[in-house]
Parts: sequence; C-alpha cells; structure tokens
Amino acid sequence: MAAVTETNPSDWMYVSEGGATIVFSYRGPPHPVFDGTVLRLRKCPIPSSESSKTVTSTLYLDGEEPDDPTIEYQIRCMERLVPPEHLPRLQTVHLDKSWLEQLARIQNDVRPIDRREKDEVDTNRKKGVLATDLVGGDWLAVEIKPKWGFLPSPVHLSEETKALKTQTCRFCMHTHLRVQKGQESFTDYCPLDLFSGDKDRIIKAIRSLWDAWVASNATVNNLKIFARGKFLLPSDAFLMLKNGAADNDLDNIRDAFSNALLRPLLQTPVLKVLSKLQRDLDALDIEGLSQLWKSTTPSSPIGASSWAQQYPEPGISDWVNFLDKYLDPNKPILDHSKPLPEHLQEYIMSYLLSATFKDCSIIVRLDFLEPSKPPTGSVASNSVTVIDLDPKDLKKLKSWEKLDLEIARNYVSAETKKRCLDAWQSPK
Ligand SMILES: [Zn+2]
Repeated sequence: MAAVTETNPSDWMYVSEGGATIVFSYRGPPHPVFDGTVLRLRKCPIPSSESSKTVTSTLYLDGEEPDDPTIEYQIRCMERLVPPEHLPRLQTVHLDKSWLEQLARIQNDVRPIDRREKDEVDTNRKKGVLATDLVGGDWLAVEIKPKWGFLPSPVHLSEETKALKTQTCRFCMHTHLRVQKGQESFTDYCPLDLFSGDKDRIIKAIRSLWDAWVASNATVNNLKIFARGKFLLPSDAFLMLKNGAADNDLDNIRDAFSNALLRPLLQTPVLKVLSKLQRDLDALDIEGLSQLWKSTTPSSPIGASSWAQQYPEPGISDWVNFLDKYLDPNKPILDHSKPLPEHLQEYIMSYLLSATFKDCSIIVRLDFLEPSKPPTGSVASNSVTVIDLDPKDLKKLKSWEKLDLEIARNYVSAETKKRCLDAWQSPK
C-alpha cells in the first residue's frame, strides 16, 4: 500500500470539500503512484476533535484501522449498480499524523471560511482514499450535482402534500424554501429537465445551472467548473476557451459550454442510470416509509433512537445482502401500494441507497471550448464519472422527514407553482 509520507504536504493542492470529506490534488514531482491522483481525507468537527480521538482509539483497539468504507462500498456495492467505467478508480493510502497536521496547517487558509469554522482534517486517521484525479488534467472538468430526478408516486402521499409533490419536483420546491429563508441567488434549474433525455430540455437545464453559477459567483452547489484543475469563477470563464482570452462574451461561452456538455450527457447512460436507481429505490416516498415505520411501533417516530437499537446502521455485509436481493431477477415482486411491516428493513435500506444517488455528483471531462467549432463525433465512455457515492446514515431519516414536510408546507404559499415534467414517469 502506498504511503502519503513519500510526498511533501506542500505537493498537494486543495480542490474541494463536502460535509464529510476534503479533497487534495497531487502537484508534486513525478511519482508512479501519486501522479494524476487526488487524496480524499475524512474531516472531523472542530469542537469535538477530542471526542473523535476517543472514538478512533476505541474502535481500532487492535491497531488496524479498516480501509475507508468508501472503497469497500464502491467495489462491493456501487460497481454492481453503476457501470464501472463511470466510477473513479480508488485505492487505500497510508496516512501519518504529523504529515496530516502539516497539510492541514498549509491548506487551511484556502478553505471556505464557513467550512473552516466547522471542521478540519481528521488527523487521527491512519488511512485515506487515493482516487483518479478527474479534475486536474489538461482539460475542463465540470462537476454537476443533479439532485432528485423524479416525481414521487402519489400512493402514500398525504392529502396535504399530494397535489404539491406530484406537480413540482423536490428540488424546485426546496429552492423556493431556500429563497424564503433568505438565500440570495435564485436558480430556475430543474433536475427533471437534466434527466429528461431530451436535447432541448437538457440544454435548458445546463443554461439554468450556468446562469446560477454566474449570478452566485460560483458559490452555488450544483455546478463547479475547473480548467486544468483551477476552480473557475465567472470572471475566469475565458479560461474555458481553447485559445485563452480570444472571446470574453459570457453568452458565447455559455452556448459553447452547453453544446459541449450536452453530448456526454446524452451519449452516456449515466443520468438515466441515476434517475432509475433514485426512483426504483424510493418506492414509498419518505411519507410512505414513515407510515410503515409507525405501523410497526406507533409511539416511535421514524429514526427515533429506540429504533436504532433494533435497526443498527447497515454495514457492508448488510448492503451486499440487500443488493443480492435487489438485483436478483427472480426476486418476489413487492406490492409497494401495500408495504408489509416485515419488509420495513428492506424499504429503509432501499430509501437510504436512493438517497445516495440523490446526493451524488457527476464529473464530466470536456475539451477546451471552441465556440466557432462545436464538437462532433462520439465521446469517450469514461468522460462521465459518478462521485460522492457514500452510504447514508439511518439516523438521518428523522431530519429528512422533517425537511420534506417543511419543503412541501412552505410551497403552499408559493404564488405560482412550477409544473415540473417527469419524462420517465410510468403512466398511472
Ligand atoms: Zn423541478
């Protein structure tokens, strides 16, 4: 196994971070293992860094920290659901405390302030994840977080939410809530356009993502653009062009960008695979899942701590068992309109897995743009990669149920209600 101490902490450049992990790209001298890779490290909250130390030491009394679950989860689970050419290559790498502390010290200043206040690199970890660097090469990398690509089945929706949730998609309603809560920039991006498989609607979705990227000065979460590994702001958009500063007109760049991005999205099955998984695995909606949960223990709301004892967080072997069943062509067909309490655990795991696909991102690799010469021909199948496919925690169900209701209730007051069109919905 490679050891990160073979490199200097200053050889790594900050790329981005999510809620649980932070990513650095290798920029050091040529190295057979680290060239063209990124290092993905776990983070821990700042105030409880003491408690996380305790957790680490009690969990791994034998001194052997297991591989990061991301790797095992990808190999044993995700590769069965997403074609492997659309997944990054991952391997385990050995970490070292003083090396991590140096890295954290050097890199902390470039992190967004709101992140820095909350958490930091977990320097107690012994192992990290080394992955293909999808962003840092001599190309444009476009990171899109597509979010929920379907409208829920109405079967288990309450009278209060049914009319809303079957007409306006979850993302568009959530956008409305965010604006109500004071978020400055508005986006009219609708995931159902991106997932539609329809050329014009995908272009519309890309333009909406672009407009929000410009309006928010690249702070929206759904679109990030990198050129040769550099995170671009709208003022850097000319760096997306093949010949540098030849054209500074943002509209021209947007059009060239939309045309270039459309091809890999249409020519690879990635979006279709994601929306099918999201929908298939979320057959009951959180409302139906919650009803099923309550029907087994009326006094205990979904995700309550008393339930955590009966239904501990699923481990890798639970996920593998679940997938064996899910992917079995001869599996018994469940009647989702009348879910049975004995299938509760299966429905819970299914919902959690759906949540993984609702929250993942894709990275699309593009050539530098040439507005006067739109790309032609077919794209390489590995030009679209799905990332951030981590398992979701059961303990989140409770907050998801709460947020779902808040989003729907808030949308009652929306003056005009958006009609989002689900292209893949089966006829009722
Ligand atoms: Zn929508």
